[in-house]
Amino acid sequence: MHKKIFFSIAFIATGFATANAQEKMKPEDTEYYTPVPAVVTPGKTCGAAPSDAIILFDGKDLSKWVETNDTTKRANWNVHNGILTVNKQAGNIQTKQSFMDYQLHIEWKEPKNIAGTGQARGNSGLFLASIGPGDDGYEMQILDSYNNSTYVNGQAGAIYKQYPPLVNPNFPPGVWQSYDVVWTAPRFNDDGSLKSPAKVTAFFNGVLVQNDVKLKGPTLYIGNPSYKHVHGASPIKLQAHGDKSIPISFRNIWVRPLPDPNQ
Ligand code: MG
Repeated sequence: MHKKIFFSIAFIATGFATANAQEKMKPEDTEYYTPVPAVVTPGKTCGAAPSDAIILFDGKDLSKWVETNDTTKRANWNVHNGILTVNKQAGNIQTKQSFMDYQLHIEWKEPKNIAGTGQARGNSGLFLASIGPGDDGYEMQILDSYNNSTYVNGQAGAIYKQYPPLVNPNFPPGVWQSYDVVWTAPRFNDDGSLKSPAKVTAFFNGVLVQNDVKLKGPTLYIGNPSYKHVHGASPIKLQAHGDKSIPISFRNIWVRPLPDPNQ
């Protein structure tokens, strides 16, 4: 048989077989009933923690947090009237608990009378995974970017020095703002090479600003990021930035660990 004709017949036959198989299928062949998704009670208002969240800061204390540079010490930022305010002298703080993939909610506020320009105007940061002392990790920038020009991949909502936010949904200083982040931790092979990069989807004041972006590595202030540091589950970290502006505040921080998407 001529090769071309043979392939054509084979192709048509396969097509018929597929169509036949589809016709023989019943609706229930593509319906399944287990495992049943857990029942979760949503928060009563937008941003309130659902029933299965781990509350990282509920306005009372920092019992879930330690100092980044000495993880034996309880975090020493200021808690007052249900609000957590950065203590710049104390340095970064991070969760006691480590996480792989998760959904995180966090609210932050720039002081109404914030001063400074560019990166020196209410700078802080949400490190989605802390992988060492200081600023080692993957930073989603916190900054007053309401009316404050800087490099776009360093403004609020940016994955610092990697991805600018898709839009700028900042509220002005003095207004509470929110990040809702889905973090997928990077995976590494046994030989230390990268298996799959970290990924981030993030909403800023309810507006999508990062859509499943693949990170190039941990945040670097200078140079091009890459995955040199092999790590697993990691703490979540908040930045005490060294700028001279008035410290910013946080409230209502909760996290929901997520199942491994590949299992
Ligand atoms: Mg920062």
